[in-house]
Amino acid sequence: MGEFDLIARFFKRPAQRQPLGVGDDCALLAPAPGTHLAVSTDMLVEGRHFLPGADPRRLGHKALAVNLSDLAACGARPLAFTLALALPEADEAWLAPFSEGLLALADAHGCELVGGDTTRGPLNICLTVFGEVPAGQALLRSGARAGDDLYVSGTLGDARLALQALRGEVTVPAPVLAAARERLDKPTPRIALGLALRGLATSAIDLSDGLLGDLGHVLHASGVGATVDADAVANLLAAGTAIAPDLRRAYTLAGGDDYELAFTAPPAAREAVRAAAAQADTRVTRIGQIEAAHGLHLVDAHGQPVPGHFASFDHFV
Ligand code: ADP
Ligand code: MG
Repeated sequence: MGEFDLIARFFKRPAQRQPLGVGDDCALLAPAPGTHLAVSTDMLVEGRHFLPGADPRRLGHKALAVNLSDLAACGARPLAFTLALALPEADEAWLAPFSEGLLALADAHGCELVGGDTTRGPLNICLTVFGEVPAGQALLRSGARAGDDLYVSGTLGDARLALQALRGEVTVPAPVLAAARERLDKPTPRIALGLALRGLATSAIDLSDGLLGDLGHVLHASGVGATVDADAVANLLAAGTAIAPDLRRAYTLAGGDDYELAFTAPPAAREAVRAAAAQADTRVTRIGQIEAAHGLHLVDAHGQPVPGHFASFDHFV
């Protein structure tokens, strides 16, 4: 199977909503009038973002999910994506499930594969997603204001729990690992929530490197600080009390690979946030507050400071 057969068999489909998809020198996109094009790229490298031998169907899902998560964090509606793929060989047994996992999630979000590049090399998957958002309505990291409530969607820490268990660094019962592994392999991009939070959230970010580190980007961009209830956060581990309290705290605060949204909104908007979460059918939990004074303060359920350093993920540290 040559390069062009491979593209035609696994990645070329008729253009749907966009004017031109796979097959020419460029794709053509048509964002609606009055919208901005939201663009984001994420690369998945074997041995770094996924384990060698990872299930190709799940990898296809995850590669797009982590990119859609960035659109969600901006409140953008997915339009299309491109796929740059380096493959050690043209292995149909790998390509078929990979493209199925990828395109199933793409179809679920109406996000068309419109182009890409295919080359031989160590397995590397790089996607660029394009979304649209009404001009001026994108959710940014820079909008948090003192007094805002701080929220997070879904559950936190289970992906890290699964990773630690797979590495043999923690032992958990098989059903607990199976559930946690779903969160590691099949993250759910919070597109519906991002759309529902337009005009409501003052800032948003998606959580890829761990809550505290990613929240730090919002605080820095917004020029504010925050107080975070570490006990409320620890309760967001879906595996719950099957896991020791210190690990629960570490995984939820600084686990990484969560692909949930952290966002802020004024207290006056609490009811509207609740309604947005219900509309998006997504759990949302209030975990703290934005402060005028810089710094990130962790407190327990009684408001007492929580000691400890929770480093989030950094590829070069
Ligand atoms: P060019 O040489 O003009 O850059 P290519 O020969 O690399 O084009 O690709 C041919 C067509 O197939 C282009 O439309 C390109 O966008 C598309 N394409 C290449 N690889 C992929 C892929 N992995 N997924 C989707 N489309 C792809
Ligand atoms: Mg060309």
